[in-house]
Amino acid sequence: MAEFDYDVLVIGAGPGGYVAAIRAAQLGLKTACAEGRETLGGTCLNVGCIPSKAMLHASEYYDAAANGTMESMGVEVKPKLNLDKMHGQRRDAVKQLTGGIEFLFKKNKVDWLKGYATFKDAHSVEVAGKTVTAKNIVIATGSSVTPLPGVEIDEKIIVSSTGALELEKVPEHMVVIGGGVIGLELGSVWRRLGAKVTCVEFLDQILPGMDDDIRKEAHKIFKKQGIDFKLSTKVTAVEVKGKKATLTMEPAKGGDSETLEADCVLVAIGRRPNTEGLGLEAIGLEVNKRGQIETDHDFRTKVDGVWAIGDVVPGPMLAHKAEDEGIAVAENIAGLTGIVNHDIIPGVVYTFPEIAGVGLTEAEAKEKYGEVKVGKFPMLANSRAKTNHEPDGSVKIIADAKTDRVVGVWCIAVPAGTMIAQAAQAMEFGATSEDIAYTCHAHPTHSEAIKEAAMAVQGKPIHI
Ligand code: FAD
Ligand code: NAD
Repeated sequence: MAEFDYDVLVIGAGPGGYVAAIRAAQLGLKTACAEGRETLGGTCLNVGCIPSKAMLHASEYYDAAANGTMESMGVEVKPKLNLDKMHGQRRDAVKQLTGGIEFLFKKNKVDWLKGYATFKDAHSVEVAGKTVTAKNIVIATGSSVTPLPGVEIDEKIIVSSTGALELEKVPEHMVVIGGGVIGLELGSVWRRLGAKVTCVEFLDQILPGMDDDIRKEAHKIFKKQGIDFKLSTKVTAVEVKGKKATLTMEPAKGGDSETLEADCVLVAIGRRPNTEGLGLEAIGLEVNKRGQIETDHDFRTKVDGVWAIGDVVPGPMLAHKAEDEGIAVAENIAGLTGIVNHDIIPGVVYTFPEIAGVGLTEAEAKEKYGEVKVGKFPMLANSRAKTNHEPDGSVKIIADAKTDRVVGVWCIAVPAGTMIAQAAQAMEFGATSEDIAYTCHAHPTHSEAIKEAAMAVQGKPIHI
């Protein structure tokens, strides 16, 4: 009889965990995946990436019809919102994709252990009252909403991203606490559908972590679209009376407080790793100051046989980062060489236009390389964007001045999330700005703006 029930047991079936389980099974390892949620796919498929993009996509159509964009192209329609139907197509997308993972588990012979897993020792966990053993255990438990002290999320009036995806009617006034990715994506959805949206951000600019020029430009674009911003402002209390909430806010650096009324408040101030109830104490594994599980480059924790990936470990909380770590950890467990290049992980905000970046910001690049060269190109001068009535945005390329190697690419453009892939690939291959500038890009495409920004690094763009 085998020493363990499984070669690999993955805890959590989000994009990190389900990908790790499938890859491990593909590599011939006997694999199980424990998931407590009723459907597979984790935050991403159930309440994150997929449902938010379903609402963003549908509301973009509504907005284009309502705000005159379609009319300006000769398509005259008067949109009528059927919110139930919009939610229906969101639920359908989630159902199909989570069902797809269940199909892939069966196809690859991954056993789904239904329930939340708790460590008993480094090679065994308890799931739904049963003890299961494995030679290797991968922690992929993901993250959940960071609460705001003193503010209770009821998912009706004070909502997290999960409640904000499912509002039964369009709020009159939605206040978003946090000008990060979730605040801007979900704030955009409800603004497009008719809500007045106010975004309260603690810092002096939205989208922390992105390049400063891009943050400023994005702020201008969202303001123009009608989102009201209160920057350098912190929310100190939210009181609900009947169907209304009253927020008390004060300047981040202190000063007089003011109040704001809303019929919906979205708390979007970040996410925190899920380790509660996992029984880490049973295996002597501690979390760091930010509540994350630390690993080495191979995703090994300090406990032999226990590995960790995804939102529960340090790094950006992104589905594709979790997926790549899932593949790498399975390959490392199988004795292959699984590597993730954490320097080149693109990030995308799926608003209109999209905002994307990969690599270093200009400030980070200056700190690391000393002298840098920067090339910029506005989407206004890109023929396709102009023709499509999409003038907002720009591309910025940052290169190390000594070697011309591209170290950061930032982009605001309608398809920026798609455009950034070529930048990530070029950087992965160690491209210089000259390499990108002399790569033939199809015309007319938004991607030509990347070529032109690379030419601008060289000092010679054609169309400006
Ligand atoms: P998760 O997806 O969080 O999955 C972890 C799973 O583990 C969960 O299903 C949980 O139930 C399960 N679990 C936890 N503890 C246990 C236990 N003890 N036993 C068994 N199971 C357990 N990222 C992007 O890249 N692009 C996007 O567009 C994007 N949009 C987002 C939109 C929203 C509204 C949110 C909230 C997030 C979004 N993200 C996006 C982030 C993305 O969802 C996460 O980075 C990603 O899901 C992390 O994957 P993971 O596998 O580490 O964890
Ligand atoms: P975030 O970290 O992107 O933004 C949170 C914002 O809230 C920050 O700007 C922060 O300064 C601000 N903030 C913190 N405390 C505050 C307070 N008390 N008052 C006012 N502002 C405050 O976090 P998020 O938007 O909640 O998203 C969580 C995670 O989910 C992110 O790490 C992100 O990577 C991931 N996500 C990704 C996508 C995507 O890739 N498109 C979409 C949604 C979520």
